[in-house]
Amino acid sequence: MNTSEIQALDSAHYLHPFTDTKDLAAKGARVIVKGDGIHIWDSEGKKIIDGMSGLWCVNVGYGRKELSRAATEQMDVLPYYNSFFNTTNLPAVNLAKAIVDIAPENFHHVFFTGSGSEGNDTIFRMVRRYWDVQGQPQKKTFIARHNGYHGSTVCGASLSGMSYMHEQGDLPIPGVAHIQQPYYFEHGQGLSEDAFGLKAASWLEEKILELGAEKVAAFIGEPVQGAGGVIIPPRTYWPEIQRICRKYDVLLVSDEVICGFGRLGTWFGCQTLGYQPDLITFAKGVSSGYIPLGGVLVGDKVADALIEKGSDFNHGFTYSGHPVACAVALENMAILRREKLIERIHDDIGPYFKQQFEALTDHPLVGVANAIGLMGGLVLMKNKSTLQMFDPDLGIGMLCRRHLFGNGVIMRAVGDRLILAPPFVITHAQVDEMFALICKCLDKALEEIKANALG
Ligand SMILES: *Cc1c(COP(=O)(O)O)cnc(C)c1O
Repeated sequence: MNTSEIQALDSAHYLHPFTDTKDLAAKGARVIVKGDGIHIWDSEGKKIIDGMSGLWCVNVGYGRKELSRAATEQMDVLPYYNSFFNTTNLPAVNLAKAIVDIAPENFHHVFFTGSGSEGNDTIFRMVRRYWDVQGQPQKKTFIARHNGYHGSTVCGASLSGMSYMHEQGDLPIPGVAHIQQPYYFEHGQGLSEDAFGLKAASWLEEKILELGAEKVAAFIGEPVQGAGGVIIPPRTYWPEIQRICRKYDVLLVSDEVICGFGRLGTWFGCQTLGYQPDLITFAKGVSSGYIPLGGVLVGDKVADALIEKGSDFNHGFTYSGHPVACAVALENMAILRREKLIERIHDDIGPYFKQQFEALTDHPLVGVANAIGLMGGLVLMKNKSTLQMFDPDLGIGMLCRRHLFGNGVIMRAVGDRLILAPPFVITHAQVDEMFALICKCLDKALEEIKANALG
């Protein structure tokens, strides 16, 4: 099949996630056919730097034979068995142990799911069950943040703070409240970053007092918001959030679907940002996206209560602890260790990436640029000296993204923020090449903006 035949079949039968189907049918989907290292290729043979690691997941890079071998070997021995009804399987046991070994010290139990959304749904049910067995069944409400992302199931989308998701289908469900995000550029005027971090955390305390602490079950947040546009909180934010959660007996949930498994230069993002959650959601990087897998790290406080007082927890998935997915994840963790990919983000490629990323502010279109670990976000601006933004309706972020994609590098646009999260295996030379290409594409975008008098 040639590209246009694939595109015709695609738009005839395949409904894509988060996509305007009519619009896609008119343009035709880009068909991705293979990957190797940090690169992917489309059906026209064009080679592209995948600056987003797929969807923040292909952390060890494409084309890893170790992972395909781990999958086929496990499929040959035992392709599937469930973990219901008093059964288990060796890869799931070994992976649970391996994850506990790298987790913060108050964690000794893992619950497996098939995705990050299912992980957060699991947490929602598990936390409510926890407060039930603690004799506080009225503690039900979750507090999350505007512009946070926690998945796309009914519960995941409810916890998420995306108004464009809530608009469709009467979300959030009852029992979910939101506070403002710790986005310094948008809300921090007149304050130092440290002072703003404390102020943003105080919004949690206000919400707890408004709802009544006796009704609040948990607070959930991503260490660094990913899909919301790589929003890096001030360093004062998370320790203060933790203090408030402890003060009011509110469980602290760290959604580490993006930050977990190394992206910030530590196994978990909470270790970089300085807090100790009660529960951790993981997915994406646990298997480098080679196979669907997610789960929940359950801290001792919750696990011990559920085990001691809980009897059955009536929750689980057909694919909880899937042996093939777990075998792939074990090998993925072995690669991260063997190649010291996380230490490398901490000590070497992370700082180098940050320096290059933040230097993008030399470009006339880029007002603010911040990076942490191997993820970064920048703000496109009409006038840098007055911090004036473009009219959002002009879609300048998407205009830039078109130039980037067309010229061989993938960045994601979130409104007029452009974000980047490349695979961990990216080399120094590839970082140089990627940023040179990004600058060239921003130049072209600026030409188009000027030619069309959009600025
Ligand atoms: C991607 C993501 C999810 C949802 O994971 P899925 O596997 O797509 O269900 C949840 N939380 C965060 C922080 C994510 O980035």
